[in-house]
Amino acid sequence: MSDWDGRLYDKALGAYLGLAIGDALGATVEFMRPREIQAQYGVHRDIVGGGWLRLARGQVTDDTTMSLALGDALLLGGEEGLRGLAHGDTGLTRGIADAYVRWWRGKPVDCGHTCRRGILRYLHDGTLAGPLNEGDGGNGALMRNLPAALATLGDDALFEQLSLAQAHITHHHPLSDAATLGLGHLLRNQLSSDDPTLLNQTALQWVSTQPAFRFTPYPGRATAYVVDTVQTVLHHVTLHGFFEDALVATVNQGDDADTTGALAGMLAGARCGASGLPPRWLQRLQPAIVQAITDQTSGLLALAQRLSEAAHA
Ligand code: MN
Ligand code: MN
Repeated sequence: MSDWDGRLYDKALGAYLGLAIGDALGATVEFMRPREIQAQYGVHRDIVGGGWLRLARGQVTDDTTMSLALGDALLLGGEEGLRGLAHGDTGLTRGIADAYVRWWRGKPVDCGHTCRRGILRYLHDGTLAGPLNEGDGGNGALMRNLPAALATLGDDALFEQLSLAQAHITHHHPLSDAATLGLGHLLRNQLSSDDPTLLNQTALQWVSTQPAFRFTPYPGRATAYVVDTVQTVLHHVTLHGFFEDALVATVNQGDDADTTGALAGMLAGARCGASGLPPRWLQRLQPAIVQAITDQTSGLLALAQRLSEAAHA
């Protein structure tokens, strides 16, 4: 492994473990108002479980487990699946929808309304996308897209195609699409560079082309509406250079705190790498989740590598 391959692996693993940390940390205060959090915890800064889902300490929710389901489907589909997608074949997308069905049948600890509706639609009629603009622009497609960003590193067009395919299984809304692609590109840029200021630069550039997501001045809403989610995440990850500060600030906004925490953890984790994650949080995650994320990160980066080698051969 070259030095840069090692660094890329550390940053990709940092993003994925950061996602799980933010999910586990934020889930405790999901659906709470900032004032309620303050009354109960002062500042919420420890992975302690509980919350409305009565989680075990270190347990993650759908944000992490749906990402793992997507990653599994991508590894199962392999290079052939991704190449097929690029040529209009629906096999990989069907494999992803099947993975979401298996995930749902496994009785996940939580499942958003729009995700459930999309999975049930696929089970009912086999269609791989719902009608455009259905639903409310929720953040469910965005929250699980990290494996798509890793599997297609080096091929932006394929990244966009894969992201929209996996997203439209449950969410088909222009702002969900824009957020899924936009945060994915921010993630991929930060993975490809050791410049810690890159995230701020690219975030500002992106919102200048997508003014719906402008986060300055910060409106202060952290709901599951994809605009509120993205503004909360970008406000806090650009304001706070340190992983821990960014996550604490994000989840203490409450509301959809597991998902805003997960996405802030993904971007801030890509910036600092796995080696820069706070050990006290990393040690609290359930070992099976850490193992699954570690294995998947290696597998997805290897898949991206094989694809780009074949493309340049
Ligand atoms: Mn969740
Ligand atoms: Mn959530």
